[in-house]
Amino acid sequence: MVENGHKNGSADMNTMWETHSPLAEQVKTNGIQKVFDEKRARGEQALKPRQSKTITCMDGRTEKKAKVAAAESGLYLLVESKVNIRTLDAEHPGDALRNFPAIRKFVSDLQDAGIKNTESHKSCGAGDLYAQFFNEQKTWGTMTGDEAAKLWAQKLAIMLGGDYRGHKSVEPGFHPERAAYYSFADAFDPGSAPDVFLPGYVISRNRFKDGNVSHAAKEMALAATISFGGHGYGARFTKENPFFFIVIAKTQEEAAVGRRELEPIVAQFGGRVQLQVLIA
Ligand SMILES: [Zn+2]
Repeated sequence: MVENGHKNGSADMNTMWETHSPLAEQVKTNGIQKVFDEKRARGEQALKPRQSKTITCMDGRTEKKAKVAAAESGLYLLVESKVNIRTLDAEHPGDALRNFPAIRKFVSDLQDAGIKNTESHKSCGAGDLYAQFFNEQKTWGTMTGDEAAKLWAQKLAIMLGGDYRGHKSVEPGFHPERAAYYSFADAFDPGSAPDVFLPGYVISRNRFKDGNVSHAAKEMALAATISFGGHGYGARFTKENPFFFIVIAKTQEEAAVGRRELEPIVAQFGGRVQLQVLIA
């Protein structure tokens, strides 16, 4: 991996883009399946069984190591459900979430999976998105993205009966992701196999069940939107140099489900997102 400066400098961005472009070209031309099959022993390092009880953000810069991942650990769900995070009573989630079935379901599915601990991180795109939503509500006051990310992770830890593990720094100071992984694996850590997997967001698709499944695909759209914006590589993503949506599946069935769920999202990005499937 490249050493990065702390600034959102274009020199760092250029260097990192060029570092990962040969692998991006291989993925585009040969497909992720072939890239993986040719380096299978290393690729499998990214697919260890989940041992962590922690949920983290989908952000490509947070440490994934066997964790579950979603947009700021589910914070993006609160935008859709229009929840005021400040008034959410985490000590009494049954009452607090009565009117928000999507969030109640997400939390109870995490509990069923044994997830207890949470963490948040600085400069979170999902945190910023929530703060933007919050600040648009006329009577709620104001909030920053950092505050939103922290507050949700703290409250989620209380609801899960676990620990909040802190507000982490991330590097580099821009979004270096070239892909978003839609993972059916127990745990997926692209950073463990950097010569097989491009830096990317990770959405633990199998942690979204029933009515929340469509939300997992929306998180993929959010990932692409962040990377196509001012904090990511933006206009460098083109039809020739696409951002990748990669389904990480264990079976043919999962691969087909992932493809079906993502195709309508891919269509929104005018050829700048390429959908691929890996059966690992
Ligand atoms: Zn984040």
